[in-house]
Formats: sequence, C-alpha cells, structure tokens
Amino acid sequence: RQDLNGETVAVIGLGVSGRSVVKLALSRGANVLALDSNPSCVPLEEDSGFEGYDLNRVQTELGPHKRETLLKASQLVLSPGVPVTHPDIAAAIQAGVPAFSELGFAAAALPGNIKVAAVTGTNGKSTVTTFTSQILRNAGVRTFVAVVEVSSYQLELPGSFHPKAAVILNLTPDHLERHKSMEAYGSIKCRVFSRMEASDVAIIPQSDVLLRRLAAMSGSQATRAWMGGLPGVQLDKDARRAIVVVPTTGVEARLYLSSLQAVGTHNAHNAGTAALLALSLDVGLQSEDIQAAIPHLKAPPHRMEIVHQDDQGVVWVNDSKATNVDSTSVGIRSIVGKKAVVLLGGQAKVGVGSGGLGFGVLVESLQSHRAVVLFGASGLAIEQELRHAGLSITCTYTELFADAVQLAGSLAQPGDAVLLSPGCASFDQFKNFEHRGQVFADLAKVVST
Ligand code: ADP
Repeated sequence: RQDLNGETVAVIGLGVSGRSVVKLALSRGANVLALDSNPSCVPLEEDSGFEGYDLNRVQTELGPHKRETLLKASQLVLSPGVPVTHPDIAAAIQAGVPAFSELGFAAAALPGNIKVAAVTGTNGKSTVTTFTSQILRNAGVRTFVAVVEVSSYQLELPGSFHPKAAVILNLTPDHLERHKSMEAYGSIKCRVFSRMEASDVAIIPQSDVLLRRLAAMSGSQATRAWMGGLPGVQLDKDARRAIVVVPTTGVEARLYLSSLQAVGTHNAHNAGTAALLALSLDVGLQSEDIQAAIPHLKAPPHRMEIVHQDDQGVVWVNDSKATNVDSTSVGIRSIVGKKAVVLLGGQAKVGVGSGGLGFGVLVESLQSHRAVVLFGASGLAIEQELRHAGLSITCTYTELFADAVQLAGSLAQPGDAVLLSPGCASFDQFKNFEHRGQVFADLAKVVST
C-alpha cells in the first residue's frame, strides 16, 4: 500500500521495533525521519535488515531530539520507551502533529477486513491465544498470531488499534515491582478496551471486583461479557461443560469439554474463553465449529505438558512456564486424583508487600501431595517459607536442578505425578524457561528408567 506517499513519518527510537516501523513507513511510500537520542545507535545503512529498502528516503538524526525536526513531520511514531511527555515531543503534538505508538501506526496498515482479538492479563495469555487461533483455523478462518509487548505508553496513543474482541484474563501481582499498585496496573490493562465500540466485546472475570470497576471507568463503549457469567462464558462445577453467549450477536454455544487434551481445570477455562473470543469476532462460526475443535486444542509447550509416562505409571508434567507463585498455584491445583512430587525453585521474583517471596500460600494445596523438592538460588528461602507456613509433607532441598529431578523421581510412588511448576524465573541455572523445561523432559526419560 502506498497510502503514505509524500508524507514524512518521524520514527522516534530505532530499536528492533522502531526499525520495523521505518520499513513499514518506507513500504507505504513515506519519507522517514529516523531519530534516536542515542548517538551511538547502529546507523540504518549498516543494518543488513535494510537491504533492498530505499534509504535515500530516510534522513537520520542521532542525539538529542530537535524540535524543528519533529515539527517537519506529518506524523510521529514513538517507541515504547519514548515518553509522550518529552518536552519537544509534547510541543510537536501540541502544534498539531499527530502521534502514534508503534502499535497504532501498524494498525493503520491492516486491511479493513482483518479482525483483531486481543488477549492480556498476568497468566494464560499464550494458552488462550493459541486455543483461539486453533479454533479459528480448525473452522477454516485465516488466522495470524502476533506477540506484542504493549506498554502503557503504546496504549496511550493507540491510533486506530481497535480489537473486535478483547479479554483481560486475570490480574495478579506478578509485575507489581514495576506497576506499584494493582489499581495502576489494572487501569493500564483496561486501556486495551478504550477505542472499542458497542459492537465490540470486552471480556473480564466476573469475580474480579477491581477489574470490573476499572473497566467501567475506562470510558470504553464496548459491550461487556464475563468469564464466569453470562453473557460470556460459564463452566459447570467440574469444568466439563461450558455455555458461551456472545452479548453483541446473541450467538450461543453449548460445549462439552471432556475431550480436551490439556491438563487442569484452568485449561478448560482457557478453552471456554477462547471459544468466547472466537465467536465474538463474528466471522460466522457456529457452536459445531467450536465443538469440533475442542479435542484438537493443544496448549503451548511447557504449560502443564505431559512429557513422559514411565513403567511405574508416573506422569512427568512440565509446567516450566510457571514463573510466579500464582501460576504455580494453578499448576499444583490442577493435579487431581493423584499425588504429585512438586519441584519448586530457581530465581524467585521479589515478593509483594510482606517482603517474603509469597510461597506460603502454596502450603494448603501442597499438603495433599507426596513431597516437595526445592532447587536453585531461591530454593532454601522457599523451603523456609513453606515450613514457616506449616508444610508437613516431605520437603528437601538440593542445589542442582538435575539432582532435584532425580530426587523427585525417587520420591514418586507408582501412579504419582512429578510436576515441575517452579514458581521462579530460570536464569540462575538456565537460558530461559524453555531450556529448563527441555532439560526436565530429557531428565524425566533418563531418571525413570
Ligand atoms: P502467559 O502467556 O500469560 O505467560 P501461559 O499461557 O504461558 O501464560 O501460561 C503460563 C502459566 O500460567 C501456565 O503454566 C499455568 O500454570 C498458568 N495459567 C494458565 N492459564 C491460566 C489461567 N487461566 N489462570 C491462571 N493461571 C493460568
């Protein structure tokens, strides 16, 4: 599309995403002012990613932003780290130069027939996004999945970014060091609803009083739907059946979830939410389309993933993605009908309020299980918290992850589960959570033979 012919787009911030904005602006026919306050940032001419782009249409300025440059632009596109309150940027906006976040700028380039479903929250985003795309694809709808880290600034300048359906799955204090208070964190999340219209669907948990209040205050015109209520999605007590009602169209689906191949009731809830999102996009899906997809839904790896089942009937479950206490709590509670040896540890996130790490809340759900094995940088501190909170099942610490997995295997009785749902970041012993999960899956096969 050459819809920006003759315009001058100022791209402020030349990081990875800023560079993508430059490319998009060039391919839409614009001239580009490429700006970065960092004088030693790699010039676009030396960036091999720009091969084949016409850099004659780019004028680069590194170092402190100049007001007169900004005023020459027909629009500004701000990187996530660039504050709208920067005096020269604010002056340009004041003078009438429209400003967009990268997200807002990219949204303007989307063809009109594309519908966006947005998923945010503390836990479950990847799973719900994956399930939604699988439902849509299974029904033959062309679907693209994008992972976008949307900062509060981006949502301040959303441009035409405008989901047809959006959900805030949950709000727990994982990021509180950064967001200071639940209230601030929640209202930032609610900005995802701000540009939505009455024909769009905004989904929040019915039981979350804070989110309900913040969503009501967000000024959104979107029609509300609930997780855990109707209109919206409601599961029965044992999470085997779901009713989905879309508030805007009245479309209704009654679903059987027993064929779902993903461990845990939270995944039944995730599937129900994905069904609500898919139906809310209003692309002609019927109840049967959703039902047909349920047995094919596959959660992304490292999320309550069964990686091995040994001769003793011990099931090895990889939930390496659980990097905070809250998601670990969900992981532990989703092992029902059997006892688990639970592996906890790694690099714990800073606790909230109390100064502790917050693992004490797990004791109630751990008590009914076989044992806890702790490992890694925060293992001993977690052990202390668990004991202090009254844990009475077997609980041991060993520093190295491989030793911990071995120990867990030896503690498991026939028919038990070994669950890695560590509640911590992995960086003390691994590259990332995927690496930790892969090592666990590999060890499971060796340890149990
Ligand atoms: P995200 O993409 O938000 O990090 P994931 O879908 O990767 O979330 O899931 C991360 C972990 O969060 C899972 O391993 C699981 O333990 C937990 N989890 C998944 N879905 C939910 C949910 N709906 N509510 C609470 N916790 C969840």
